[in-house]
Amino acid sequence: MKNSLHNSQTNHKEWVTRFAPSPTGFLHLGHVAAALYGWQKAQPDGEWFVRMEDIDAQRCKPEFISAILEDLEWLGLQFARPVLRQSANMPAYQATLAKLDAMGVLYPCFCTRSDIMRESAAIFSAPHTAPDGSLRYPGTCRHLSDQERQERIGQGQPHVLRLNMSKALQRVHQHMRGMPLTYQDQERGTVLCQPELFGDVVLARKDTPASYHLCVTHDDAAQGVTLVTRGEDLRPATDLHRLLQALMGWCVPQYSFHPLLCNAEGRRLAKRDGALAVRAMRKTGLSAEDVRCKAGFPHIFER
Ligand code: GLU
Repeated sequence: MKNSLHNSQTNHKEWVTRFAPSPTGFLHLGHVAAALYGWQKAQPDGEWFVRMEDIDAQRCKPEFISAILEDLEWLGLQFARPVLRQSANMPAYQATLAKLDAMGVLYPCFCTRSDIMRESAAIFSAPHTAPDGSLRYPGTCRHLSDQERQERIGQGQPHVLRLNMSKALQRVHQHMRGMPLTYQDQERGTVLCQPELFGDVVLARKDTPASYHLCVTHDDAAQGVTLVTRGEDLRPATDLHRLLQALMGWCVPQYSFHPLLCNAEGRRLAKRDGALAVRAMRKTGLSAEDVRCKAGFPHIFER
């Protein structure tokens, strides 16, 4: 677990940052703000690059990838690195899962969503939620015997792979000799992580053999990202990512969180806010500078 005890990049000035959209729609103003935020952090001598987080085969479309890249180019955002598509990186995620499995911190879970709701209601007065709003798993399949697991897998029963949170924490705490798990937030300083609030999260799904948490943490480490810039909405998930870094012995980047742009109703910008898609704005005759300005970054390319 080298490098898991400290943030090795604390005094690093040439930040390597990335923009990692999920290509489920066209680039909108919220994306532009996220892209420019990361781009700005990498100036003047760092690197900014793009990665496509397209593991969700149902929702991600190749036509959105090319449209997003084209809009980024139109906005004046250039990058030298080839674009990594996570859907083409599955062997790397499988290798990570195999290592976690060898540590004994994964287990197969055969529960359906309704099983989880039912079990949660039986144990707790209301279903428990994790800090990201997802349903917290009550732990049913954690208690299965190895034999039962093998039998059910042998029968072809669909299952996900979950992190055994208490085993994972035990392992990390032992290795860190009781030192708390933290990361550096550029704006807030040292942040104490509480991954336990997520419970036994899913790291591999039935339909997608790797989860967002696994892929994003793997790729940020593998691609040498030294400063992860992301929306405030992903702040809670960062605690979980820090735990995965500690388990895997990956370098720990710094973090910087940007506020999310909202629509007229005060809700986070989303695909349904079609008029705020860069495509639509381009059609109305707005210039790239106008769009950058709307996203909150006027004159960003001027030195
Ligand atoms: N792919 C994520 C999203 O579109 C961002 C990646 C991250 O910062 O973790 O929200």
